[in-house]
Amino acid sequence: MGVNTNIEESRDRRVGLIYDEGMCKHSCTDDNRHPESPNRIRAIWKKLQYSGVTNRCLILNAKEARDKDIELVHTKGHINLIKQISSEKFSRRKRTLEEFNSIYFNEGSSEAAYLAAGSVIEVAEKVAEGELDSAFAIVRPPGHHAEEDEPMGFCLFNNVGIATSYLLDERVDLGIKKILIVDWDVHHGNGTQKMFWKDPRVLFFSVHRHESGSFYPDGEDGSHVMIGEGPGAGYNINVPWENAGCDDADYLAVWDNILVPIAKEFCPDLIMISAGFDAAIGDPLGECCVTPYGYSMMLHKVRDELSAFWPTLAEKLPKKVTMKRNPYIQEAMLVQTRSQCKQEVSSGRKIVRWTTKHFSNTTGEQ
Ligand SMILES: [Zn+2]
Repeated sequence: MGVNTNIEESRDRRVGLIYDEGMCKHSCTDDNRHPESPNRIRAIWKKLQYSGVTNRCLILNAKEARDKDIELVHTKGHINLIKQISSEKFSRRKRTLEEFNSIYFNEGSSEAAYLAAGSVIEVAEKVAEGELDSAFAIVRPPGHHAEEDEPMGFCLFNNVGIATSYLLDERVDLGIKKILIVDWDVHHGNGTQKMFWKDPRVLFFSVHRHESGSFYPDGEDGSHVMIGEGPGAGYNINVPWENAGCDDADYLAVWDNILVPIAKEFCPDLIMISAGFDAAIGDPLGECCVTPYGYSMMLHKVRDELSAFWPTLAEKLPKKVTMKRNPYIQEAMLVQTRSQCKQEVSSGRKIVRWTTKHFSNTTGEQ
Protein backbone atom coordinates (compact mmCIF):
# COMPACT_ATOMS: atom_id res chain seq x y z
CA MET A 1 0.00 0.00 0.00
CA GLY A 2 1.06 3.56 -0.43
CA VAL A 3 2.13 5.57 2.51
CA ASN A 4 2.55 9.18 3.45
CA THR A 5 6.26 9.82 3.65
CA ASN A 6 6.04 13.45 4.69
CA ILE A 7 5.79 12.86 8.42
CA GLU A 8 6.59 16.41 9.52
CA GLU A 9 3.80 17.77 7.41
CA SER A 10 1.32 15.07 8.30
CA ARG A 11 1.73 15.45 12.06
CA ASP A 12 -0.96 18.09 12.30
CA ARG A 13 -3.22 16.61 9.70
CA ARG A 14 -5.83 14.40 11.15
CA VAL A 15 -7.72 12.75 8.33
CA GLY A 16 -7.09 9.03 8.18
CA LEU A 17 -7.10 6.87 5.05
CA ILE A 18 -7.09 3.11 4.68
CA TYR A 19 -6.66 1.14 1.49
CA ASP A 20 -5.23 -2.33 0.92
CA GLU A 21 -4.85 -4.36 -2.26
CA GLY A 22 -5.89 -7.43 -0.30
CA MET A 23 -9.47 -6.27 -0.71
CA CYS A 24 -9.03 -6.52 -4.48
CA LYS A 25 -8.50 -10.27 -4.34
CA HIS A 26 -12.26 -10.69 -4.08
CA SER A 27 -13.63 -10.68 -7.63
CA CYS A 28 -16.25 -12.29 -9.81
CA THR A 29 -14.51 -14.95 -11.86
CA ASP A 30 -17.57 -15.58 -14.04
CA ASP A 31 -18.00 -11.99 -15.13
CA ASN A 32 -15.11 -9.56 -15.42
CA ARG A 33 -17.59 -6.75 -16.10
CA HIS A 34 -19.42 -7.26 -12.80
CA PRO A 35 -20.28 -3.84 -11.32
CA GLU A 36 -18.78 -4.72 -7.93
CA SER A 37 -15.21 -5.09 -9.15
CA PRO A 38 -11.78 -4.45 -7.61
CA ASN A 39 -11.37 -1.50 -9.94
CA ARG A 40 -13.96 0.40 -7.93
CA ILE A 41 -11.58 0.93 -5.06
CA ARG A 42 -8.39 0.89 -7.14
CA ALA A 43 -9.74 3.87 -9.06
CA ILE A 44 -10.48 5.77 -5.84
CA TRP A 45 -7.03 5.11 -4.45
CA LYS A 46 -5.28 6.10 -7.67
CA LYS A 47 -7.28 9.29 -7.89
CA LEU A 48 -6.42 10.24 -4.31
CA GLN A 49 -2.75 9.55 -4.98
CA TYR A 50 -2.70 11.42 -8.27
CA SER A 51 -4.39 14.47 -6.76
CA GLY A 52 -2.04 14.54 -3.78
CA VAL A 53 -4.76 13.87 -1.19
CA THR A 54 -2.87 10.87 0.18
CA ASN A 55 0.04 13.15 1.07
CA ARG A 56 -2.22 15.23 3.27
CA CYS A 57 -3.68 12.31 5.20
CA LEU A 58 -2.48 9.81 7.73
CA ILE A 59 -2.32 6.45 6.03
CA LEU A 60 -3.28 3.59 8.31
CA ASN A 61 -2.69 -0.08 7.75
CA ALA A 62 -5.68 -2.24 6.97
CA LYS A 63 -6.53 -4.76 9.66
CA GLU A 64 -8.49 -7.96 9.64
CA ALA A 65 -11.49 -7.93 11.98
CA ARG A 66 -11.58 -10.38 14.86
CA ASP A 67 -14.35 -12.94 15.02
CA LYS A 68 -15.42 -11.66 18.42
CA ASP A 69 -16.06 -8.22 16.94
CA ILE A 70 -17.95 -9.57 13.94
CA GLU A 71 -20.07 -11.63 16.34
CA LEU A 72 -21.54 -8.40 17.66
CA VAL A 73 -23.87 -8.33 14.64
CA HIS A 74 -23.45 -11.64 12.78
CA THR A 75 -24.18 -15.24 13.77
CA LYS A 76 -21.36 -17.73 14.22
CA GLY A 77 -22.73 -19.71 11.29
CA HIS A 78 -22.44 -16.67 9.04
CA ILE A 79 -18.90 -15.94 10.21
CA ASN A 80 -17.83 -19.53 9.57
CA LEU A 81 -19.31 -19.41 6.09
CA ILE A 82 -17.33 -16.29 5.13
CA LYS A 83 -14.19 -17.50 6.87
CA GLN A 84 -14.10 -20.85 5.09
CA ILE A 85 -15.58 -20.05 1.70
CA SER A 86 -12.27 -19.20 0.03
CA SER A 87 -10.63 -22.47 1.02
CA GLU A 88 -13.52 -24.55 -0.36
CA LYS A 89 -13.19 -26.32 -3.68
CA PHE A 90 -14.48 -24.33 -6.65
CA SER A 91 -17.46 -26.63 -7.23
CA ARG A 92 -18.54 -26.45 -3.61
CA ARG A 93 -18.14 -22.69 -3.54
CA LYS A 94 -20.33 -22.47 -6.60
CA ARG A 95 -23.03 -24.58 -4.98
CA THR A 96 -22.91 -22.43 -1.84
CA LEU A 97 -23.31 -19.14 -3.64
CA GLU A 98 -26.41 -20.39 -5.43
CA GLU A 99 -28.14 -20.27 -2.03
CA PHE A 100 -27.73 -16.51 -1.90
CA ASN A 101 -29.02 -13.42 -3.64
CA SER A 102 -26.53 -11.39 -5.73
CA ILE A 103 -23.40 -12.88 -4.19
CA TYR A 104 -20.17 -14.21 -5.64
CA PHE A 105 -17.21 -15.84 -3.92
CA ASN A 106 -13.66 -16.64 -4.97
CA GLU A 107 -10.41 -17.59 -3.29
CA GLY A 108 -9.84 -14.01 -2.11
CA SER A 109 -13.28 -13.35 -0.64
CA SER A 110 -12.55 -14.37 2.95
CA GLU A 111 -9.47 -12.19 3.29
CA ALA A 112 -11.17 -9.23 1.64
CA ALA A 113 -14.22 -9.49 3.90
CA TYR A 114 -12.12 -9.60 7.07
CA LEU A 115 -9.97 -6.68 5.86
CA ALA A 116 -12.99 -4.56 4.99
CA ALA A 117 -14.66 -5.07 8.36
CA GLY A 118 -11.43 -4.62 10.30
CA SER A 119 -10.47 -1.48 8.43
CA VAL A 120 -13.76 0.24 9.18
CA ILE A 121 -13.32 -0.66 12.85
CA GLU A 122 -9.79 0.76 12.72
CA VAL A 123 -10.76 4.18 11.39
CA ALA A 124 -13.85 4.41 13.58
CA GLU A 125 -11.81 3.62 16.66
CA LYS A 126 -9.11 6.16 15.80
CA VAL A 127 -11.72 8.88 15.37
CA ALA A 128 -13.49 7.88 18.58
CA GLU A 129 -10.20 7.96 20.46
CA GLY A 130 -9.62 11.48 19.22
CA GLU A 131 -6.51 10.60 17.24
CA LEU A 132 -8.19 11.57 13.99
CA ASP A 133 -10.77 14.20 13.20
CA SER A 134 -12.21 12.08 10.43
CA ALA A 135 -11.25 9.13 8.29
CA PHE A 136 -12.08 7.31 5.08
CA ALA A 137 -11.86 3.54 4.75
CA ILE A 138 -11.78 2.57 1.08
CA VAL A 139 -13.10 -0.94 1.40
CA ARG A 140 -14.83 -3.75 -0.41
CA PRO A 141 -16.77 -6.00 -0.39
CA PRO A 142 -19.45 -3.55 0.70
CA GLY A 143 -21.57 -4.27 3.74
CA HIS A 144 -24.95 -2.62 4.15
CA HIS A 145 -27.05 -5.42 2.65
CA ALA A 146 -25.40 -8.16 4.75
CA GLU A 147 -27.79 -9.37 7.42
CA GLU A 148 -27.17 -11.14 10.70
CA ASP A 149 -27.02 -14.57 9.10
CA GLU A 150 -26.95 -13.93 5.37
CA PRO A 151 -24.66 -12.34 2.79
CA MET A 152 -26.56 -10.56 0.03
CA GLY A 153 -26.32 -7.81 -2.56
CA PHE A 154 -22.52 -8.09 -3.05
CA CYS A 155 -22.12 -7.69 0.76
CA LEU A 156 -20.43 -10.29 2.99
CA PHE A 157 -19.94 -8.67 6.42
CA ASN A 158 -21.83 -5.56 7.48
CA ASN A 159 -18.75 -3.37 7.94
CA VAL A 160 -20.46 -0.26 9.31
CA GLY A 161 -22.75 -2.32 11.54
CA ILE A 162 -19.78 -4.13 13.06
CA ALA A 163 -17.80 -0.94 13.70
CA THR A 164 -20.83 0.80 15.18
CA SER A 165 -21.51 -2.05 17.60
CA TYR A 166 -17.83 -2.28 18.43
CA LEU A 167 -17.70 1.33 19.60
CA LEU A 168 -20.99 1.19 21.48
CA ASP A 169 -20.56 -2.21 23.12
CA GLU A 170 -16.85 -2.97 23.26
CA ARG A 171 -15.29 0.46 23.70
CA VAL A 172 -17.64 2.04 26.23
CA ASP A 173 -14.56 3.64 27.77
CA LEU A 174 -14.46 6.05 24.83
CA GLY A 175 -17.78 7.59 25.78
CA ILE A 176 -19.43 7.18 22.39
CA LYS A 177 -23.08 6.77 23.27
CA LYS A 178 -24.92 7.79 20.09
CA ILE A 179 -23.99 7.13 16.49
CA LEU A 180 -25.63 8.48 13.36
CA ILE A 181 -25.34 6.24 10.31
CA VAL A 182 -25.99 8.01 7.02
CA ASP A 183 -26.44 5.57 4.14
CA TRP A 184 -26.47 7.38 0.79
CA ASP A 185 -26.01 4.31 -1.38
CA VAL A 186 -28.78 4.17 -3.99
CA HIS A 187 -29.99 0.88 -2.48
CA HIS A 188 -31.63 0.53 0.91
CA GLY A 189 -29.32 -0.57 3.74
CA ASN A 190 -31.57 -3.42 4.84
CA GLY A 191 -28.89 -5.21 6.86
CA THR A 192 -27.86 -2.17 8.86
CA GLN A 193 -31.49 -1.23 9.49
CA LYS A 194 -32.24 -4.63 11.01
CA MET A 195 -29.16 -4.62 13.20
CA PHE A 196 -30.21 -1.44 14.99
CA TRP A 197 -33.99 -1.75 14.62
CA LYS A 198 -34.64 -1.63 18.36
CA ASP A 199 -31.59 0.40 19.35
CA PRO A 200 -32.09 4.10 20.23
CA ARG A 201 -28.32 4.60 20.41
CA VAL A 202 -28.16 4.43 16.63
CA LEU A 203 -30.03 6.72 14.26
CA PHE A 204 -30.05 4.99 10.90
CA PHE A 205 -30.82 7.26 7.96
CA SER A 206 -31.08 5.84 4.45
CA VAL A 207 -32.02 7.54 1.20
CA HIS A 208 -32.55 5.13 -1.68
CA ARG A 209 -34.60 4.09 -4.66
CA HIS A 210 -37.60 2.12 -3.47
CA GLU A 211 -40.32 2.30 -6.09
CA SER A 212 -42.99 0.70 -3.94
CA GLY A 213 -40.62 -2.07 -2.96
CA SER A 214 -39.73 -3.14 -6.49
CA PHE A 215 -36.14 -1.85 -6.48
CA TYR A 216 -33.37 -3.99 -4.96
CA PRO A 217 -33.33 -5.27 -2.23
CA ASP A 218 -37.10 -5.47 -2.86
CA GLY A 219 -39.87 -5.56 -0.27
CA GLU A 220 -41.11 -3.10 2.29
CA ASP A 221 -38.00 -2.79 4.46
CA GLY A 222 -37.02 0.45 2.73
CA SER A 223 -40.40 2.10 3.11
CA HIS A 224 -40.80 5.38 5.00
CA VAL A 225 -43.14 3.66 7.47
CA MET A 226 -40.27 1.52 8.76
CA ILE A 227 -39.28 3.64 11.76
CA GLY A 228 -37.84 1.13 14.23
CA GLU A 229 -39.47 -0.67 17.10
CA GLY A 230 -39.67 -0.58 20.89
CA PRO A 231 -36.98 1.72 22.28
CA GLY A 232 -35.68 2.10 18.73
CA ALA A 233 -38.96 3.51 17.40
CA GLY A 234 -38.26 6.80 15.66
CA TYR A 235 -34.56 6.07 15.22
CA ASN A 236 -34.86 4.54 11.77
CA ILE A 237 -35.53 6.93 8.91
CA ASN A 238 -36.00 5.92 5.31
CA VAL A 239 -36.36 8.37 2.46
CA PRO A 240 -37.55 6.26 -0.46
CA TRP A 241 -37.35 7.57 -4.02
CA GLU A 242 -40.22 6.44 -6.19
CA ASN A 243 -38.32 6.81 -9.45
CA ALA A 244 -34.85 6.92 -10.97
CA GLY A 245 -33.15 10.14 -12.03
CA CYS A 246 -32.88 11.88 -8.64
CA ASP A 247 -30.16 14.50 -8.67
CA ASP A 248 -28.24 16.93 -6.48
CA ALA A 249 -31.28 19.12 -5.82
CA ASP A 250 -33.33 16.14 -4.60
CA TYR A 251 -30.60 14.91 -2.27
CA LEU A 252 -29.77 18.36 -0.90
CA ALA A 253 -33.44 19.05 -0.25
CA VAL A 254 -33.55 15.86 1.83
CA TRP A 255 -30.38 16.88 3.64
CA ASP A 256 -31.67 20.38 4.43
CA ASN A 257 -35.21 19.45 5.34
CA ILE A 258 -34.93 16.02 6.94
CA LEU A 259 -31.45 14.70 7.72
CA VAL A 260 -29.72 17.77 9.15
CA PRO A 261 -32.59 18.95 11.40
CA ILE A 262 -33.18 15.45 12.77
CA ALA A 263 -29.49 14.77 13.23
CA LYS A 264 -29.08 18.02 15.15
CA GLU A 265 -31.79 16.89 17.52
CA PHE A 266 -30.24 13.44 17.86
CA CYS A 267 -26.87 15.05 18.58
CA PRO A 268 -24.58 12.14 17.68
CA ASP A 269 -21.19 11.57 19.23
CA LEU A 270 -19.92 10.09 15.99
CA ILE A 271 -21.15 9.82 12.41
CA MET A 272 -20.64 6.87 10.08
CA ILE A 273 -21.36 7.22 6.38
CA SER A 274 -22.14 4.18 4.26
CA ALA A 275 -20.82 5.95 1.22
CA GLY A 276 -21.84 3.73 -1.66
CA PHE A 277 -21.63 5.89 -4.75
CA ASP A 278 -24.09 4.20 -7.08
CA ALA A 279 -26.46 7.18 -7.02
CA ALA A 280 -23.76 8.93 -9.05
CA ILE A 281 -24.50 10.25 -12.48
CA GLY A 282 -23.72 7.58 -15.06
CA ASP A 283 -23.99 4.60 -12.71
CA PRO A 284 -25.62 1.75 -14.68
CA LEU A 285 -27.48 0.27 -11.69
CA GLY A 286 -28.48 3.39 -9.79
CA GLU A 287 -29.69 5.48 -12.75
CA CYS A 288 -29.63 8.62 -10.59
CA CYS A 289 -27.75 11.83 -11.29
CA VAL A 290 -25.76 12.91 -8.22
CA THR A 291 -22.68 14.82 -9.32
CA PRO A 292 -19.28 14.91 -7.58
CA TYR A 293 -20.24 18.40 -6.39
CA GLY A 294 -23.48 17.01 -4.98
CA TYR A 295 -21.61 14.38 -2.99
CA SER A 296 -19.21 17.01 -1.69
CA MET A 297 -22.13 19.11 -0.49
CA MET A 298 -23.78 16.11 1.17
CA LEU A 299 -20.58 15.44 3.08
CA HIS A 300 -20.04 19.11 3.84
CA LYS A 301 -23.51 19.43 5.34
CA VAL A 302 -23.16 16.31 7.46
CA ARG A 303 -19.70 17.26 8.68
CA ASP A 304 -19.83 21.01 9.12
CA GLU A 305 -23.44 21.80 9.90
CA LEU A 306 -23.58 19.17 12.59
CA SER A 307 -20.17 19.69 14.10
CA ALA A 308 -21.24 22.74 16.08
CA PHE A 309 -23.73 20.59 17.94
CA TRP A 310 -21.28 17.97 19.11
CA PRO A 311 -19.52 18.16 22.40
CA THR A 312 -15.89 17.58 21.50
CA LEU A 313 -14.66 14.08 22.02
CA ALA A 314 -11.97 15.33 24.34
CA GLU A 315 -14.62 16.70 26.67
CA LYS A 316 -16.62 13.52 26.49
CA LEU A 317 -13.86 11.07 27.25
CA PRO A 318 -13.82 9.78 30.82
CA LYS A 319 -11.96 12.21 33.05
CA LYS A 320 -10.77 9.71 35.62
CA VAL A 321 -9.92 6.26 34.42
CA THR A 322 -7.58 4.13 36.44
CA MET A 323 -4.78 2.58 34.45
CA LYS A 324 -5.43 -0.87 35.86
CA ARG A 325 -9.02 -1.01 34.79
CA ASN A 326 -8.54 0.36 31.34
CA PRO A 327 -6.06 -1.46 29.15
CA TYR A 328 -6.91 0.73 26.17
CA ILE A 329 -5.97 3.93 27.90
CA GLN A 330 -2.91 2.24 29.35
CA GLU A 331 -1.81 1.25 25.90
CA ALA A 332 -2.34 4.75 24.64
CA MET A 333 -0.23 6.17 27.42
CA LEU A 334 2.56 3.79 26.53
CA VAL A 335 2.43 4.93 22.96
CA GLN A 336 2.72 8.48 24.13
CA THR A 337 6.04 7.86 25.78
CA ARG A 338 7.52 7.12 22.39
CA SER A 339 8.65 9.83 20.03
CA GLN A 340 5.86 12.08 18.82
CA CYS A 341 5.76 10.58 15.43
CA LYS A 342 7.90 7.88 13.93
CA GLN A 343 7.92 5.72 10.91
CA GLU A 344 9.03 2.16 10.87
CA VAL A 345 9.10 -0.75 8.58
CA SER A 346 7.51 -3.93 9.83
CA SER A 347 6.76 -7.07 7.88
CA GLY A 348 7.60 -5.29 4.68
CA ARG A 349 5.02 -2.59 5.28
CA LYS A 350 5.57 0.94 6.37
CA ILE A 351 3.64 1.91 9.43
CA VAL A 352 3.00 5.49 10.39
CA ARG A 353 2.62 6.04 14.09
CA TRP A 354 1.69 9.22 15.77
CA THR A 355 0.52 10.24 19.15
CA THR A 356 -2.16 12.51 20.39
CA LYS A 357 -2.50 14.90 23.26
CA HIS A 358 -6.01 13.67 23.93
CA PHE A 359 -5.03 10.89 26.22
CA SER A 360 -2.86 12.81 28.62
CA ASN A 361 -5.34 15.65 28.73
CA THR A 362 -8.38 13.58 29.42
CA THR A 363 -7.43 10.64 31.58
CA GLY A 364 -6.51 12.66 34.62
CA GLU A 365 -3.19 10.88 34.79
CA GLN A 366 -0.80 13.73 34.21
ZN1 LIG B 1 -25.88 0.06 -3.92
